[in-house]
Amino acid sequence: MRVTILGFYGGYPFAGIGTSSYLIETGTYRLLLDCGSGALLELEKHCDPLQLDAVLLSHYHADHIADLGVLQYYWQLHDRRPRRSILPIYGHQLDQAHFQELTWPHATQRQAYLPTQVNELGPFELSFLRTVHPVPAFAIRIVERATGHALMYTADSAFFPGLTKLAQRADLVIADTNFAANDQRKHWHLTSVEAGRLARQAHVSRLLLSHLPQTIPPEQLRQEAQAEAGTNVTVLLPSQGQSLEI
Ligand SMILES: [Zn+2]
Ligand SMILES: [Zn+2]
Repeated sequence: MRVTILGFYGGYPFAGIGTSSYLIETGTYRLLLDCGSGALLELEKHCDPLQLDAVLLSHYHADHIADLGVLQYYWQLHDRRPRRSILPIYGHQLDQAHFQELTWPHATQRQAYLPTQVNELGPFELSFLRTVHPVPAFAIRIVERATGHALMYTADSAFFPGLTKLAQRADLVIADTNFAANDQRKHWHLTSVEAGRLARQAHVSRLLLSHLPQTIPPEQLRQEAQAEAGTNVTVLLPSQGQSLEI
């Protein structure tokens, strides 16, 4: 499968770069993982948004769903949309107000994922784990059924041991790395060192830092994460539009 980074900042877009969103493709299947600010403009550079097969949302914070409304309008109003085709949007049901809004008449249909079991979605198997965050949010392990290749996405979360279990031996971990190593405040995201520790403890080969802060040099975060992760892990920084093969 291939992962394309559509946006990688946490909280708000900055200097022309959007917030969390990733396009995941295998064969002709296209899954949009989170739909942050700027996602639709970047998505158009890589595929026709009408060719998405599904959208999958980790949680309903604005930096993960900011472009969802305009994606729904795109599907509703675009005159090239195939008649009667409806885009499924998968989310959790722990916030009913947001969950209900995933349906937009004649355009998108809300679908609940079941966090306690393995969910089949197209060519993927999805496993979920509730994270430590101010609102319900789910880390997601996405396994390509045909190859067994695995992507683990922490979504937004403070560090806790369950993340390590869900990430075990994944081919790529995308980690919410919103703070530097020396940040001692209580926070709802990983520090660079915690992202590195997650990768080391889970025996993953590649760690992509994402959900980055706007005010800390990314290379500093990378070096801090790499020092903790050890030499068996390659720590990567994101760039908008970049694709990674898994
Ligand atoms: Zn976020
Ligand atoms: Zn969040």
